[in-house]
Amino acid sequence: MQKINKVVIKIGTSILTGNDGKINPKKIDDIANQIQQIRRKDVETVLVTSGAIASGMEMLKITKKPKEIGKRQALASVGQVMLMSMYSEAFRKRGLHIGQILITHEDIKDKTRCINLMNTLNRLISMEVIPVINENDALSFTEIQVGDNDNLSAMIAQIISADLLLLLSDVEGLYEKNPKKYPNSKLLKTVKKIDEKIWSIAEDTQSEKSIGGMLSKIEAAKKAGLYGIHTRIVNGHIKNVIVRVIEGEEIGTLFLPERKLSRNKWWTAFAYRPKGKIWIDKGAEKAIRENGKSLLPSGIIKVEGQFTRGDCVEILNEAGMIISKGITNYHSHEIDLIKGLKTVEIEKKLGYKYTEEVIHRDNMVVL
Ligand code: GLU
Repeated sequence: MQKINKVVIKIGTSILTGNDGKINPKKIDDIANQIQQIRRKDVETVLVTSGAIASGMEMLKITKKPKEIGKRQALASVGQVMLMSMYSEAFRKRGLHIGQILITHEDIKDKTRCINLMNTLNRLISMEVIPVINENDALSFTEIQVGDNDNLSAMIAQIISADLLLLLSDVEGLYEKNPKKYPNSKLLKTVKKIDEKIWSIAEDTQSEKSIGGMLSKIEAAKKAGLYGIHTRIVNGHIKNVIVRVIEGEEIGTLFLPERKLSRNKWWTAFAYRPKGKIWIDKGAEKAIRENGKSLLPSGIIKVEGQFTRGDCVEILNEAGMIISKGITNYHSHEIDLIKGLKTVEIEKKLGYKYTEEVIHRDNMVVL
């Protein structure tokens, strides 16, 4: 990797909490100390931190994470204050300031709000303030939330065009097999491409307090990698790990980027939530994946969900794998009528035609 100028660091709850499940102030102090060191090397830094719910549990003396969403929201509301006051104090001692931003997926998928977020982040960075981000858990619920901070940090890395997404977790990195089942399995130092094999070893290691297991980390690395960003997964308990990674030490697992999507395609790939699914046959799959073609009605087998022109949809192959996402030119009920037809037959069937393509190549991202 070349020199890192801009990094997004994601701190998982398991890094902040001790065996007793309580937030360890020493750990927060250590993170602030390391960030002070990399700031001295002119590395622009954004923190994405979990721990609001764990802090809330600690404050209100609750030992088991509640399942009920309302309770979690309340705990996050209480805990976020405690969490931020600890960060604020740790940075203030070092002459550094932090700025809190709490977001939900709504702030990313809406272009105006996302640009606003981007501007605020860039402004904070230019004022040498360290943005500290978390999901707005107090107000978020399934439909509007990102859901885990691994994916959230990847989107933040994309929004500010970071060079590196650094995921601090309680595992060493990605192993060639689940190390809990196979203690002798080897740590992968570099992953060139996130393919089927990588997905299959990314077993979900959900723990009591943290949401993101290996699966969400791989999702995050995949996202970042499609936007030209490297991702490194490291054990956050390793001494001085942030500084050492920034200095070029090869700790944990590094995921190389695949390509750099344009901002326009970024919206389609990551920011918009798909409203439906379109299944396509082998011929259409080949045309899209290998020949860079648009999606025509003839290759469509099935459509699912209710969506309208301009919505984002997922394109699935016959095996049910999502191969692409795109912005549709037709309503779901129209696609249902024209599926399997030749483009010349669209008008005959519907009585009108918007375009020959159901999804134009320019509005499509192959994943
Ligand atoms: N936002 C959650 C919290 O602060 C954590 C989400 C995650 O760990 O991915 O408790």
